[in-house]
Amino acid sequence: MDLYEHQARDLFAEHGIPVPRAEVTESAKEAREFARRLGGRVVVKAQVKTGGRGKAGGVKLAADPAAAELTARQILGMDIKGHTVRRVMLAQPVDIEAEFYVSYVLDRASGTFLAIASAEGGMEIEEVASSRPEAVARIPIDPAVGVTSAVAARIAEVAGLPPQTVDVLVRLWSVLTREDALLVEVNPLVRTAQGQILALDGKVTLDDNARFRNARWGPEKEADHEETLETRAAAKGLNYVKLDGEVGIIGNGAGLVMSTLDVVAGCGAKPANFLDIGGGASAQIMADGLDVILSDPAVKSVFVNVFGGITACDAVADGIVQALEHVQLTKPLVVRLDGNNAARGRAILEERAHPLVEQATTMDGAARQAADLALAPNPL
Ligand code: GDP
Ligand code: MN
Repeated sequence: MDLYEHQARDLFAEHGIPVPRAEVTESAKEAREFARRLGGRVVVKAQVKTGGRGKAGGVKLAADPAAAELTARQILGMDIKGHTVRRVMLAQPVDIEAEFYVSYVLDRASGTFLAIASAEGGMEIEEVASSRPEAVARIPIDPAVGVTSAVAARIAEVAGLPPQTVDVLVRLWSVLTREDALLVEVNPLVRTAQGQILALDGKVTLDDNARFRNARWGPEKEADHEETLETRAAAKGLNYVKLDGEVGIIGNGAGLVMSTLDVVAGCGAKPANFLDIGGGASAQIMADGLDVILSDPAVKSVFVNVFGGITACDAVADGIVQALEHVQLTKPLVVRLDGNNAARGRAILEERAHPLVEQATTMDGAARQAADLALAPNPL
């Protein structure tokens, strides 16, 4: 789970990392009041879980409380890379003398944590990383040692950061380890004209496996459509992942679902999402699954791919038939049943004879059908 900037800011502050004074609100009127309390001049920042807000016009300086209200009104409701802005953070502006980049990230390829740091932080960091990779230091961290003052001093030296950043580097490591994070990033970490080191922007990704320990960040209240669907699926105990194509995919078991994605892609279509119904394929699970998948407006066809093992295909077919009682099918459904009791399962669906349900005997054939249906002009 990613945290919002203001949540990351709170976490940094708890760990003793200097951050600007700030307030969060959903209302432009309140933004004016907060700006007044923060001294008048403020930076108004969109709170969305995506980077590049600055370039998208989601980070703006306001000269006084009236301007803060106006700016907040512009930013609230703005769409930034598919995320609707529902809240803004008002922060005390700082006089930036230098911008640095610092992050710790779990690097699965090298099997350890990496400190990534650069003396050229700010909005162009991606450009710097790709055109001049030597300007971005990547230093493996021994998790048994962690980031001690000595390790932090070496990171700062290799990356060309001033020695005053060492304390922040040590504290940032404690955010990563004590808060069960997979990523902590500060961009920019700045040196102000007054010589102070401040974390001006923060990104924190918490490890979902430790969610039970991070309950205080709570369920997501607002957020965009995709997150709402994922939250809805999670509440029903379903493994649902949103992708960016047009074929909805339901399968049983992670391995089968993964290969289903590949086969659909091989047919020239792109998966819109996938949902692993695991071993269970009861009517309730099928109905919940279809409900979630069909709620994604990007879905043009749905491919249900089930290999009956312990779960028999006739039970799955029964589940689909019963689900059709509860869910209004609006997109074509291609079903491929194979394995345990496949013939009986197919007969059940054939008898139901729903006009939008097609069957296929092979995974390749079904993927082809689902892809063609998704790419064809919508018949409805
Ligand atoms: P991002 O674009 O989503 O990473 O948003 P940031 O919070 O990093 O803000 C983008 C840029 O706005 C930063 O890189 C800074 O250059 C600038 N910025 C943010 N806050 C301040 C501030 O208080 N003073 C000044 N001068 N610039 C700021
Ligand atoms: Mn940033």
